[in-house]
Amino acid sequence: MGNALIIAEHKDGKLRSVSLPAFAFAKDYAGQRGGEFHILVMGHNLGSVVEEASCYGAAKVHVADNEGLGPYLAESHAAVAAKAARDSGAEVVAATATAMAKDLLPRISAKLGAGMASDILGFNDQGYFQRPVWAGSAVVDTEITTPFKVVTVRGTEFEPAPKVASGGDKADVTVDLDFGSLKKRFLNFEEIKSERPELTEAAVIVSGGRGTKGEEGFKLLDRLADIFTAAIGATRAAVDAGWVPNDLQVGQTGKMVAPDLYFAIGISGAIQHLAGMKSSKVIVAINKDEEAPIFNVADYGLVADLFKAVPELVEEIKKVKG
Ligand SMILES: Cc1cc2nc3c(=O)[nH]c(=O)nc-3n(C[C@H](O)[C@H](O)[C@H](O)COP(=O)(O)OP(=O)(O)OC[C@H]3O[C@@H](n4cnc5c(N)ncnc54)[C@H](O)[C@@H]3O)c2cc1C
Repeated sequence: MGNALIIAEHKDGKLRSVSLPAFAFAKDYAGQRGGEFHILVMGHNLGSVVEEASCYGAAKVHVADNEGLGPYLAESHAAVAAKAARDSGAEVVAATATAMAKDLLPRISAKLGAGMASDILGFNDQGYFQRPVWAGSAVVDTEITTPFKVVTVRGTEFEPAPKVASGGDKADVTVDLDFGSLKKRFLNFEEIKSERPELTEAAVIVSGGRGTKGEEGFKLLDRLADIFTAAIGATRAAVDAGWVPNDLQVGQTGKMVAPDLYFAIGISGAIQHLAGMKSSKVIVAINKDEEAPIFNVADYGLVADLFKAVPELVEEIKKVKG
């Protein structure tokens, strides 16, 4: 039976919306393979997360609630997830390709002796998974031949699953791990607090590149971002130059995003940057070079000096918004 088990992420007692595309994948996959869509939630004091998780139409929500699982550690979570995969009759174990999933899923696949496909874009009738290669220039079909299959799902390629009526079974996962014997210990987590929304969850992103010429240029982008309560993004060139922190990098080696609106300002449109943002619903590019490749993917393009165009745009939008 082709059950699909999704590892759900949560934070501060709430399900993270990054998991919703993986739920959508699981529904499709299980539906096509005659199986069920299941969710696994791991952590401590999970009451509200479990309630929320049970609103997405899963046949069963598996709950591993244990003090030892409070802090995330790949070692402990992988052991528990592998057990849940066996108990749930899963054919595929998946999660959205976040930083956590990239850390956790390879370990789960090792524990299950499963083949793994990372960052999949979809799957076909034969059950082959599509994966991007060469920074998204080509897509390959990957067949996983092991009984268990482990995949991470590119979040921008699946519409987030909507809430349906709550319901579905819940099942406790017995956690019989000796946490003291783990080879790693969680010490502390230092979160970078930001007033702005998280990049992967923002509806609007204002991204800057080398053309911003430095921190001052990014301050201009802040003014535009303030209007939309947008997240700030950046190219690797801007990050490498030290103008913005590296958790703002969008692209092949940064974050994959697909907001409703993406501003690409002073960004050339290198293939590695496009790999992370080209699924955005509307792309607006401002670049002084009319040949810049970013215009090939932009819905709206403005050939202009950003230092003149962005302040003007801010004023005009403010007038329209009143
Ligand atoms: C393995 C690998 C992985 C990579 N991963 C990533 C990744 O994840 N994300 C990423 O972004 N890059 C990544 N890169 C780097 C990528 O190849 C590019 O070098 C980078 O995206 C370029 O950034 P940029 O567009 O800011 O700079 P540039 O390519 O230098 O472009 C700057 C643009 O600004 C414009 N400009 C300059 N002044 C102005 C002005 N006053 N007004 C308006 N426009 C102006 C220019 O016309 C130009 O088009 C990766 C590269 C490799 C090899």
